[in-house]
Amino acid sequence: MAASAVIDPAPAPVHLILNLALGYLVSRSLHVAVELGIADLLKDSPQSVDALACTTGAHSPSLRRLLRTLAAHGVFAEDEQGRFGSTPAAALLEQGAMRDGVLLCGEVSGDGSWWNAVGTLKHSVMTGEPAFDHQHGMGFFDYLQREPACAQWFDRGMANFAAAENPLIAQAHDFGAYRHVVDVGGGQGGLLAEILKCHLHTRGTLFDLPGVVRNPADLVRAGISEQWTATGGDFFASVPAGGDAYILKRILHDWSDPQCLRILRCCRAAMSAQARLLVADAVIPAGNAPHPGKVMDMLMMVFAGGRERTEQEFEALFAQAGLRLQRITPTPGSLSLIEAIPA
Ligand code: SAH
Repeated sequence: MAASAVIDPAPAPVHLILNLALGYLVSRSLHVAVELGIADLLKDSPQSVDALACTTGAHSPSLRRLLRTLAAHGVFAEDEQGRFGSTPAAALLEQGAMRDGVLLCGEVSGDGSWWNAVGTLKHSVMTGEPAFDHQHGMGFFDYLQREPACAQWFDRGMANFAAAENPLIAQAHDFGAYRHVVDVGGGQGGLLAEILKCHLHTRGTLFDLPGVVRNPADLVRAGISEQWTATGGDFFASVPAGGDAYILKRILHDWSDPQCLRILRCCRAAMSAQARLLVADAVIPAGNAPHPGKVMDMLMMVFAGGRERTEQEFEALFAQAGLRLQRITPTPGSLSLIEAIPA
């Protein structure tokens, strides 16, 4: 019988603080286990640590300690024979599940630029500037354009996270009402593919940086080539005209208010009076309640000088760009669909 993980639901204050102070070790342990592909090795049956060490090339006693730490958090479970097996959380770390997304968070396939920037969070807190820019002398997306290996790691990880949330967004709104949807900063095209395959009379334009749209993996894989085109460009300069819906998913949270205004004004300039803007981002609730957007907000602070926003903050941004917030639809994930129309 596999021992079930015991997770303290409400730790005493001293444990809460210690857990938070050392949380980066749990986080790093997860990244390493994912890099070694442990979850895939446990998919079919529990394995001894020696067998896992042999396959991965790890030092067996150290690997045992790593897996024990993660098992205490519900990732993997040790049985009475000392073998480690999968759990529902571990299954999410398999290839095809959340593996590429976790590799993105841990920057396991990157070059240290992401991990090191998080280490200098204090710079952002003291100055309001992205720690990434301070450390690397350029913005995060400029850096990705210069470092193709990092760009690949980022695009794959983003697409992986997006795969879980795209169907939820596609179902949260009647995209079939549009003739032409433009996904601005649409990455690998996963959301557009999800929308187009359900609405065969809708056309889509994927718009992103030229290097990103060269081969948009998710759209290509969907096999609906007659329904879409891809256009490379810079959303601070202009976005393609002619859409009756413009999507900005996980875009505005990357940027400061003045930068968002530039993006929104480009969208507004491309929109007809009847067109609609659909922003998919977290909407931060008032009060102390936990929300996934609150941690993501710190990531935005470090990397891009962006922020997660409240409803009032979206409303104010839209108003300055000639748009009026019309409706907010929460999805079952962490994102909401925030709709705006020309004011
Ligand atoms: N909408 C996608 C990707 C979000 S990541 C999703 O939700 O999965 C942010 C995206 O913005 C990246 O794909 C990045 O390449 C794109 N991007 C960054 N700067 C850009 C610019 N100046 N012009 C166009 N796209 C840009």
